[in-house]
Amino acid sequence: LADRLQKVFSKLRGKGKLTEDDVNEALREVRLALLEADVNFKVVKEFIAKVKERAIGQEVLQSFTPAMVVVDIVNKELTELMGGSQSKLARSNRPPTVIMMVGLQGAGKTTTTGKLAKMLLQQNHRPLLAAGDIYRPAAIKQLQVLGEQIKVPVFSMGDQVSPVEIAKNALQHAKDHGNDYLIVDTAGRLHIDEALMDELKQIVEAVKPDEILLVVDAMTGQEAVNVAESFHKQLELTGVVLTKLDSDTRGGAAISVKAVTGCPIKFAAMGEKMDALEPFHPDRMASRILGMGDMLTLIEKAQAGIDADKAKEMERKMRTDGFTFDDFLDQMEQVKKLGPLDQILDMLPGAGKMKGIKDIKVDDKQMARVAAIVKSMTKEERQNPDMLSPSRRKRLAAGSGNSVQDVNRFIKQFDDMRKMMKQFSGMMGPKGPKGGLK
Ligand code: GDP
Ligand code: MG
Repeated sequence: LADRLQKVFSKLRGKGKLTEDDVNEALREVRLALLEADVNFKVVKEFIAKVKERAIGQEVLQSFTPAMVVVDIVNKELTELMGGSQSKLARSNRPPTVIMMVGLQGAGKTTTTGKLAKMLLQQNHRPLLAAGDIYRPAAIKQLQVLGEQIKVPVFSMGDQVSPVEIAKNALQHAKDHGNDYLIVDTAGRLHIDEALMDELKQIVEAVKPDEILLVVDAMTGQEAVNVAESFHKQLELTGVVLTKLDSDTRGGAAISVKAVTGCPIKFAAMGEKMDALEPFHPDRMASRILGMGDMLTLIEKAQAGIDADKAKEMERKMRTDGFTFDDFLDQMEQVKKLGPLDQILDMLPGAGKMKGIKDIKVDDKQMARVAAIVKSMTKEERQNPDMLSPSRRKRLAAGSGNSVQDVNRFIKQFDDMRKMMKQFSGMMGPKGPKGGLK
């Protein structure tokens, strides 16, 4: 979707002024792009009508940069369509807050249960998980393994007790043990059926959840929206979690779910690992779909993944030009923690547009080569990047098994990076965006 929309907008960018025909033509493309991304037909129709209403008329036609106005309108409307602002997780004033996970089989309920618990744990909460899927073989075990991995307790009563009883007992257990959140994992079916809905309703009746989160697989596109609609009719959902956004590049489900069901998307899951869950920000998702990147999510991710003390120290160094090769080695280790580089690049504004950026592969081998150069440096050299004279560079090449050109290229890259970091950290201010580390 992003690629296609970028083309539309770059066409508009080339223009000085827009005519009504231009707007119409651009919106025709936007419409196609949305339909291609499997966005619900009705949603597309309404969306286009809204944008058109705002775009045609004096605002765009007389504007100095008409293209930007259209992009801005599409961006704002898209954000609005996906719920406007971020929708927070409910919190009961009589703990525990009970969260019930529902959805079809394979949507990612159990995985998301673990991820959510990890997120809560990081916010200093004491979540308890309840193993309520007694039907799928090994479902209980799956949750127990996750619980062990993230160090969160799992309440289970085996597969011979009804899920309703399990949920009730888990709630009591949470109260007795001071757990402030209870997340109930439930069973799913391949299709929505009455038996499933009845059981879920009974659980709702028994534990009165503060949140009923529907987990849907974003890859299923419009089907995800249909599933959301039927669950919402039966259970009065409080929110949706979109999973597998790492595999779905089209974003169709994200765009239509809120519009069709009225139910806010609260979280987005983008991977199988336990830290691949993010609060869903409609504005960021809109920017991402439009190809403007997602700097804020990236920065938040960096803050969560990187040692806070180290990050602060690093930030100080970046600002003061004190960034050394030793720091570089450190940084490389930290970057590895953020996850696959192509995923990080996707979040950078404009990265999608840069030719060849997808071909850059910072693989382990290359990292090791660069690390070898740094390791061939003396302690002094590492701390003072400016003292690397040609003769020293020659020695480094020999010492690390690289050519002098390789060494020169790396030092040049390092210098560029240093400059960029200084600019970047200047941009973010000493405390980072919006108040810094949380
Ligand atoms: P459940 O049947 O709803 O409990 O689904 P599971 O939690 O067992 O997940 C089904 C499969 O989807 C597992 O293989 C998960 O690892 C995978 N999965 C869950 N969430 C994501 C995600 O966000 N991205 C990707 N790529 N895979 C996911
Ligand atoms: Mg499951």
